[in-house]
Amino acid sequence: MYLHKELETMSRDEINAYQLEKLKSTITHCMNSPFYKKRFNQEKLSADSIKSLDDLRRFPFTTKEDLRATYPFGMAAVPLEKCIRLHSSSGTTGNPTVILHTRNDIEAWADAMARCMYMVGMRPNDVFQNSSGYGMFTGGLGMQYGAERLGMLTVPAGAGNTKRQIKFMKDFGTTCLHAIPSYASRLYEVMKEEGIDPRRDLKLRVLAIGAEPHSDEQRHRIEDMLGVKAYNSFGMSEMCGPGVAFECPEQNGMHIWEDYYIVEIIDPVTLEPVPDGEIGEMVLTTLKREAMPMIRYRTRDLTRILPGECPCGRHHKRLARMQGRSDDMIILKGVNIFPIQIEQILMRYKELGSDYLITLNREDINDSMTIEVELNQLFTDDYGRLQSLTRDITRELKDEILVTPYVKLVSKGSLPRTEGKAKRVVDNRITH
Ligand code: ADP
Ligand code: ZN
Repeated sequence: MYLHKELETMSRDEINAYQLEKLKSTITHCMNSPFYKKRFNQEKLSADSIKSLDDLRRFPFTTKEDLRATYPFGMAAVPLEKCIRLHSSSGTTGNPTVILHTRNDIEAWADAMARCMYMVGMRPNDVFQNSSGYGMFTGGLGMQYGAERLGMLTVPAGAGNTKRQIKFMKDFGTTCLHAIPSYASRLYEVMKEEGIDPRRDLKLRVLAIGAEPHSDEQRHRIEDMLGVKAYNSFGMSEMCGPGVAFECPEQNGMHIWEDYYIVEIIDPVTLEPVPDGEIGEMVLTTLKREAMPMIRYRTRDLTRILPGECPCGRHHKRLARMQGRSDDMIILKGVNIFPIQIEQILMRYKELGSDYLITLNREDINDSMTIEVELNQLFTDDYGRLQSLTRDITRELKDEILVTPYVKLVSKGSLPRTEGKAKRVVDNRITH
């Protein structure tokens, strides 16, 4: 089972030629979308505007606001009767967004997902368990279709019910698991409570972790706790879901599948491209989507392209670990901070658990940051030791984020657990 090997192993020249051809056909197809037709006509743009890949930059960006404004079906490039699936984001701020898929879109998505899974050693004789919610969240069905395409025995456990989840792993001999990083840590906690040693009692060997920002330190923790290899998996509903970019066995950057997407990294202020290797906002153009092609979609995710060739031999570009979304950036006392910078430091302390919460407060005109972090179960409550630990962590954090946070070490299990993506920041400041 090795799908579309010729696409996965293309050289740089082959990728460029493939993308140019697909880009032209995508722009032509976009004219079937009322949204793009109007926009491209206004700007006098068409497939003829594309002579080289650089000409993509003549096209305007597509934003989440565009998706909201055209809610629910205004971006579709095919009649609704050709669509077989709809996914929708939560829509906590205004209209939710809707993503439509044709049968071919679902097939192409399953292929991409299966490619990622095969790349990290998942095989048809594996048992694959998915701890993502099945429903509008694409981590459920997206992983499911990929795992079935690959031919694994799938266990669509769904989110939550951790004890049952662990029982399934034990009884069914689960070898591969998909979990968001915060949930992987939760699984381990409950395994310990249940007296289960993953190395002794389970057959787990490969994990796909993603859907939320996490540091390399957190990945190593998960690998150590569960005795597995954990691979970073990136996706977003607007592009289909998981399967957009995935780490290869080198575990150094995620290959973004360039037969599916053209990736650009731009400066979010000037909107100009940044050189390879520099951090900026990732912008994606779809090359295979039928129901809802997207041109230059501003993902708001901040990352960089890793320069150089990957030792694995694939030429598809590599994305560095995501720093977070531009909306996740904390501005405190004029300094820009990403939660991931804080996590990186916390995770280096073996005395600490994996859960933390950053709270921002304002008193008069003074902003402050409190970081509550759970202690590891094994840690004693030696007061002097706790004090010096707090001091050390505070100092290290200050060096990294340039402001001094209040660090509070709290007991294991005292911070709220979420079922979906972890909530790391609470901002209590009044914003005008
Ligand atoms: P929502 O917008 O409701 O979170 P999605 O499930 O589409 O919906 O989430 C996609 C977003 O999740 C991405 O834009 C990115 O911010 C984040 N994300 C997904 N995978 C990763 C990953 N591996 N590392 C960091 N962030 C990720
Ligand atoms: Zn590689």
